[in-house]
Amino acid sequence: MMPNFFSFTSQQLSDKLEEMGERSFRAKQLFNWVYQKQQLNLQKMTSLSEDLRSKLADNISFKLPKIITGQVATDGTRKFLLQLQDANKIEMVLIPAAGKNTLCISSQVGCARNCRFCATAKMGLLRNLDVAEIISQVYLAKQQLGENKLTNLVFMGMGEPLDNYENMMQAVRILQDELAFKFSPRRITISTSGVVPGIAKLAVSGVKVKLAVSLNSAIQTKREYLMPISRKYSLTKLKQTLKKFQRYNPYRITFEYVLIKGFNMGKKDIKALRAFVGEISCKLNLIPWNPIAGSEFKSPTEVELNDFMKQLMDLRVALTVRRSRGTEIDAACGQLAAGS
Ligand code: SAH
Repeated sequence: MMPNFFSFTSQQLSDKLEEMGERSFRAKQLFNWVYQKQQLNLQKMTSLSEDLRSKLADNISFKLPKIITGQVATDGTRKFLLQLQDANKIEMVLIPAAGKNTLCISSQVGCARNCRFCATAKMGLLRNLDVAEIISQVYLAKQQLGENKLTNLVFMGMGEPLDNYENMMQAVRILQDELAFKFSPRRITISTSGVVPGIAKLAVSGVKVKLAVSLNSAIQTKREYLMPISRKYSLTKLKQTLKKFQRYNPYRITFEYVLIKGFNMGKKDIKALRAFVGEISCKLNLIPWNPIAGSEFKSPTEVELNDFMKQLMDLRVALTVRRSRGTEIDAACGQLAAGS
């Protein structure tokens, strides 16, 4: 199978071109066409010789997934369903906010982690995305945005990014590549359900990104009920690993806490949460649970949400609420399950 253009860093493409008997500076030109000029048609890359263009056509694929459907919610959130080369489909979500455009990308088709409150879990894990499939989402989103700048990237779509570690990391290198997307490290967030070995590896990888951790309960038994991964990697282990992570990474960790009515919002939950986040330099992002079909859970009311927040006000961590975006098109957190 031909390698896909979107799986190369500029250095790797330069090596590949040398292998093909070409001068390595051609890689720079090619990156310029594709990433700066948004040109994917080899015939229009006029600074490259005809000979090189036909060689490239024979050796490298420039194919992108197809956007099958795009839905827009009243708040401007756009959800796209993408068709991969095989029969699989994934979703990505583009979220505009004041002066910012955030893309929420998928790292796997489905997910193996089986969190009880999440729609993607119901699919099971079908497969990992390859590097080009991860990068393609960003490329397609930029095409969609046109003149508007894509400012932030979050690996919070379908899948567990740290379960697809190598491909996710290679994608991050391309995203940060000066000749490709030039994303600054603080504009890329990897969100994990708490894959402890992956967090430890990321810490010492030398690659800088922001880390978000889906906590959802700081009580071990409750977290195990919500997130089976917690049986394998306990809260104690998670905390130890995050402390280690912070020795290598300059950014504050974000804890995501999905608020489930009557389940993780009581006095004991708050006490445990305070103790857990108190030891780590972090931000806390509260996410009122978004409904998924056939679930036992309920979303909190506005009053319950405010009450919960009040009880955390004196904590010395930045507290934010992630208002549901695009719920009516099932584009909000935990509602992604391709095929709908
Ligand atoms: N696997 C990664 C990234 C995907 S989930 C992770 O677990 O972090 C992205 C975020 O959506 C997580 O914080 C998760 O807790 C949250 N989430 C999942 N289902 C949700 C739902 N139904 N409502 C609100 N948030 C949800």
